[in-house]
Amino acid sequence: MELGYFSMRIYLDYAASTPVAPEVLKAMTPYWSEKFGNPSSAHSFGREAEIVVDEARETLAKFFEVDFDEVYFTSGATEANNWVAASATNNKQLTTNNSKPHVITTEIEHESLLEPIKELERQGKIEATYLKPSRDGFISASQVEAALNNNTVLVSVIYVNNEIGTVQPIKEIGKVIEKFKSLNVQRLKEKALNLKPSTLYPVFHTDAVQAVQLFEPRLSYIKVDAMTVSGHKLYAPKGVGVLIARKDVPLLPLLRGGGQEFEQRSGTLNVPGIVGLGKAIELLSVKGVRQREHKRLAPLKEQLTNGILQIIPGAKLTTSKEPQAGHIVNVIIPRVQSQIMLIALDQAGIAVSAGAACSAKSVQPSPVLLSLGYSADEALRSLRFSLGRLTTKKEIEATLEILARLAKRFKIA
Ligand code: PMP
Repeated sequence: MELGYFSMRIYLDYAASTPVAPEVLKAMTPYWSEKFGNPSSAHSFGREAEIVVDEARETLAKFFEVDFDEVYFTSGATEANNWVAASATNNKQLTTNNSKPHVITTEIEHESLLEPIKELERQGKIEATYLKPSRDGFISASQVEAALNNNTVLVSVIYVNNEIGTVQPIKEIGKVIEKFKSLNVQRLKEKALNLKPSTLYPVFHTDAVQAVQLFEPRLSYIKVDAMTVSGHKLYAPKGVGVLIARKDVPLLPLLRGGGQEFEQRSGTLNVPGIVGLGKAIELLSVKGVRQREHKRLAPLKEQLTNGILQIIPGAKLTTSKEPQAGHIVNVIIPRVQSQIMLIALDQAGIAVSAGAACSAKSVQPSPVLLSLGYSADEALRSLRFSLGRLTTKKEIEATLEILARLAKRFKIA
């Protein structure tokens, strides 16, 4: 209690989840009980729900610069990523030979993308190439280029990594894929198949869950065909997300039934969640807002990073090369297991994460850190601090003071 900080709780786990923004909560509130209609119903209750879903879809379409019917609401990013992976088997162009569809992804994707791809591979339905990142956590466009072949139906590369915060060269990868597609047009022309480049494989998808709140979201600008986004990482509620997919992307519906979401994703729509996501995206659409937030976070991240490295001389950053997202700091501390430090920090009121949030209950070393070349022992000593809209300088200072005390206690100062 001497510091007075123990009575305050400091949340530094925004990459795991964000609080719902007050404006978002306000926008959602009527749609729980006052305006509760099913948007598929023909009566006025249904229509008032349908109208707000359409408005949210329009907001998202504008933000990502896509068409209204290229926005598919889902239950979150896990569903969107699973959907993209499953769609890799829905190929219409690989009729020329008996080869399996080929997928290119990376070793540093979120499990919700990697696991379904690995499962399809185990089932013998696809072949997959997993690109290895550099020691600093980057995938290059030339790595993607070298892995492409005529059976490649999907390339999926995470935009901002949720554990280490590296920003991948999505646009450069997109250019490589674009070039490959135009060569394919030539190839198919020779076979008298006249297809537009946009309708050709591979589909380029990015998991932009940790990216759109700070970085360029327009699909055509970063040259992607499909993108995954989650509500609860951008101050909207949990349980709502979106798959943005160009019309040419051959989606394979995961959920069949009532034919909602343009016959691609059945199930009664989560109206309050969708309204909330629409509002959260509207807040991000304000000119300069993402850039300003990134600028605001940069010195806070620097202060936190420098502070940690000063307090714990044996600590090392898992990656130090740019470009990096301004909200994620990942460090490996000496000798103390992250689970132990996490509990000690939690007891002092500070919430951070060890490894990815979704796997926080298991004590397996992070596959992302292993892929970067860290040992299992090092990976088990990693801590992720993630900053957000409500993070203040005072909170960073308080965190560093508490960390200094704990470092002394654990004899790593
Ligand atoms: N992708 C990334 C990069 C994530 O960080 C997360 C959440 N940890 C997901 C996908 C899964 O998102 P959701 O919780 O919406 O299923």
